[in-house]
Amino acid sequence: MPEYKAPLRDIKFVTEEVLDIHGHYAKLPGAEDATPDMVTAILEEGAKFAERVLSPLNRIGDQQGCQFKDGVVTTPDGFKEAYQQYVEGGWPSLSHPESVGGQGLPDSLGMMVTEMIATSNWSWGMYPGLSHGAMNTIEIHGTEEQKDTYLTKLVSGEWTGTMCLTESHCGTDLGMLKTKAEPQDDGSYAITGTKIFISAGEHDMAENIVHIVLARLPDAPAGTKGISLFIVPKFSVNASGEKAERNEVSCGSIEHKMGIHGNATCVMNFDGAKGFLIGPPNRGLNCMFTFMNTARIGTALQGLAHAEWALQNSVAYAKDRLQMRSLSGPKAPEKAADPIIVHPDVRRMLLTQKAFAEGGRALIHYCSMLVDTTKHASDDEKAEADELMSLLTPIAKAFLTETGFESANQGLQVFGGHGFIAEWGMEQNVRDCRISMLYEGTTGIQALDLLGRKVLMTQGATLRRFTKIIHKFCKEHKGDKRFKSYVTALDKVNSEWGDLTMKVGMKAMRNKDEVGAASVDYLMFSGYVVLAYFWARMAVVAKTKLEEGTDEVGFYTAKLQTATFYYERLLPRTKAHAEAMLSGADNLLSMDEDNFLFLNS
Ligand SMILES: Cc1cc2nc3c(=O)[nH]c(=O)nc-3n(C[C@H](O)[C@H](O)[C@H](O)COP(=O)(O)OP(=O)(O)OC[C@H]3O[C@@H](n4cnc5c(N)ncnc54)[C@H](O)[C@@H]3O)c2cc1C
Repeated sequence: MPEYKAPLRDIKFVTEEVLDIHGHYAKLPGAEDATPDMVTAILEEGAKFAERVLSPLNRIGDQQGCQFKDGVVTTPDGFKEAYQQYVEGGWPSLSHPESVGGQGLPDSLGMMVTEMIATSNWSWGMYPGLSHGAMNTIEIHGTEEQKDTYLTKLVSGEWTGTMCLTESHCGTDLGMLKTKAEPQDDGSYAITGTKIFISAGEHDMAENIVHIVLARLPDAPAGTKGISLFIVPKFSVNASGEKAERNEVSCGSIEHKMGIHGNATCVMNFDGAKGFLIGPPNRGLNCMFTFMNTARIGTALQGLAHAEWALQNSVAYAKDRLQMRSLSGPKAPEKAADPIIVHPDVRRMLLTQKAFAEGGRALIHYCSMLVDTTKHASDDEKAEADELMSLLTPIAKAFLTETGFESANQGLQVFGGHGFIAEWGMEQNVRDCRISMLYEGTTGIQALDLLGRKVLMTQGATLRRFTKIIHKFCKEHKGDKRFKSYVTALDKVNSEWGDLTMKVGMKAMRNKDEVGAASVDYLMFSGYVVLAYFWARMAVVAKTKLEEGTDEVGFYTAKLQTATFYYERLLPRTKAHAEAMLSGADNLLSMDEDNFLFLNS
């Protein structure tokens, strides 16, 4: 049976030893309560909840899925009770302000807990995950009254939230959305339209659902400049802040889909539902970006979650499963055959998962510390953190989900044919992971955002902010023979990143299609460089610990070995991406669209 154990040792290695989270908390205004003891206590409790409550429900969620009858969605057995425990444990309020009933702890601490929830049961974790995005949106753009009415209930976990963007004719291109918002005499709006694919749009886990909905005002300009944002509760709220009559919003059906069966993906009908404008009129998409940025880092985490889950289960299997003998002679002569972990190719698959999971963990927690800074630090620090986040968000979202899916697939492959059989859970992991590259902006869209908006439109300034950080790290360690193999390669790909940007930028000045033609290779190249930076940092910490003397020789040696594997076996993929991105748009665009297929007529 598949299992999940919280990787607390590795979370602590990344956050404490590599990213110095306690130094960060010591400087972060408002983070006084996040003492090392408090962080440890929270992580240990979070680990128990993930391992004991959520992990056992992961397979049940897949097998039962959500049920839909007469507008009512029933979640799989145990989901509702687990949510109750989550609320009673105070988890929803962990990293929200005390002024709205939160515990005021940093977002980065919330992210460590979310990592464990996400990995143990992604489908369940989406319900509170969507709420978290709704809370951030109201926290930043809501009026005081909206915060009092909705935010407090979301923070306590009594109510959950959703994000309603997509319509049947528009997913990526939200400029085409049609849902209408008509002003009413009482200052509210009547919202009419149908949204599809709404995660957690209807369920039985909480008494009310707060939908954050994109819609158009009557005389709004066409396209993305005419979209506004609204709060639409499932149940209206009375003067004393409690749920009142049912609003005109209902679930029309739920989707039958490839994975994440425990999470309800709903068609939501708004039939003149009472809604309330949030943020300025026609600026809804900008406000929604608050939600989407939270959701994108949350989805980046999904890549890490499935990679970690695949790794844990495939390592256990590879140590146990006996097949064939090692090429260099038997390693377990007393057994009928050697465990498959002796075979180089099985190790290639295990180390690929390990390198992506642990490297991805460093990137995710680095980003969540930047989120702390964007919310709480001085203006200068905020500006830098905002710029870094704008560059790293598309990279984290697309690169970690692409490599998360590769890892989930490698995890299945380690099991051979048994990986294809449901009881081992590996095929569920692949199916559940697949959506991560689609929602919250597909890989193609993240890549356009990175290369077009974040890099070329800023004339490379945003990119330089990060390449300078890598350059500084390389300069600091350049003379040190112990780290030469990592630092030389990192320095080289880092300057290549800048050179490639220039070359693609020059081509794009002549032909805009060059951006679209280069973008996914550019994004993947960027992801490999970013992870190389974190693997170099992890190698420096590990080597230093080993030299200082430690009881954990195996742990730190494995870090160095994984860093070497990453540099020698995964980082070289940048060469193929560089060559492909410079090959130009012609090899993609020259074929006539009628010549793609020649089928029997
Ligand atoms: C399980 C699930 C849960 C979801 N949850 C939510 C939710 O909670 N709330 C919500 O609002 N939505 C949700 N979605 C919707 C999701 O965000 C969209 O499916 C996604 O944005 C893609 O939109 P689309 O499906 O319409 O694809 P399309 O936009 O039609 O894209 C089709 C293909 O064309 C490519 N493409 C499109 N435009 C370009 C371009 N300019 N350049 C290059 N390539 C391009 C895309 O990358 C993609 O490969 C969910 C979807 C699913 C399946």
